[in-house]
Amino acid sequence: MKICDICGNYNLKENNYCTHCGNKLITEHFCPFCSESNPDYATYCIKCGRQMNPLYIDSFDVLFSEFNENLLSNASIGDVEYNKLLSEIFLRAEHFEIEGNTIKDKILNFAGIFTQCYPKSRGYERGFIFLGNKIFYDDRLDDSVQIATIIHELAHYLLFTIVESLLCEIFHVKTSSTLQSFVWYFLTLPEFKIMNEYCAHTVEGRFIPYGYQNYGSFNVLVEDTSLDSESIETMMIFGNTFANEIIVYLEKYLDERLREEIKLQYKMDLKTPNFDSIFIETGECLPLVVKNSMLLKILYEIFEEASSSEARKELESIKEGIEVN
Ligand SMILES: [Zn+2]
Ligand SMILES: [Zn+2]
Ligand SMILES: [Zn+2]
Repeated sequence: MKICDICGNYNLKENNYCTHCGNKLITEHFCPFCSESNPDYATYCIKCGRQMNPLYIDSFDVLFSEFNENLLSNASIGDVEYNKLLSEIFLRAEHFEIEGNTIKDKILNFAGIFTQCYPKSRGYERGFIFLGNKIFYDDRLDDSVQIATIIHELAHYLLFTIVESLLCEIFHVKTSSTLQSFVWYFLTLPEFKIMNEYCAHTVEGRFIPYGYQNYGSFNVLVEDTSLDSESIETMMIFGNTFANEIIVYLEKYLDERLREEIKLQYKMDLKTPNFDSIFIETGECLPLVVKNSMLLKILYEIFEEASSSEARKELESIKEGIEVN
């Protein structure tokens, strides 16, 4: 029997996909040439010596191999495949009843299906996401502000997961701390931080009432960047496109009724809108196929850049951080 790590369904051992949710269930690593069972991380078959895909990538030497470089430079993803990848990410929400005594608890429980959320009671930021997958929100703040923070950080998490899943698909592997380090490296490069932050603000803005948003973390990036205005706009459009993909799914679960409850929480907290303004804004979205071919091109460029020894040091330290936490 194989237990699905997404929905918990029991599957027959010969199944490669979960019969309940469609998740990939590969648990053994067979050589496609001689059928020998290999260790998960093997890139060369232990019996016949031919090159094969590892089940997961456990080192940067393997990640940046010529084999993977070729896979990435030739990669393409159709709209159907991409949408399948998105629906797999949100699949776990399908089996979840959003419950809680307060609307903040409900939002927290919802975010908790995707990743771990921890309260923090110190520091200046409202919240943050740590190395791609842990959400911290400040429990000293009013519930309404905590809700906005959790949704914002969840959007960061989901963008991370989308890129992670796409790379898993391209390299035919399960995720690993090595792969996650590369995703984190990419999303925190100065220009892509703008995309990432714009995406999170746009998603947050969909679920909290108008006029209450705080754009500080985005405005600071735009203020400090050395990018020209055209490049900034490209990053924003990119972020906006991702945000709209995420919003379509989140709206299914954070529905009208829950959004009303969020509004009510703002009233209960006696919040007055601050109408904080965002320096620059875009409503523009790229067609899926355009965005994805741009994304693949960018990922390839970053991949080339990240394989240099200078970037490797940074990747190693990100990986260390992911593994300790
Ligand atoms: Zn399943
Ligand atoms: Zn073999
Ligand atoms: Zn953010």
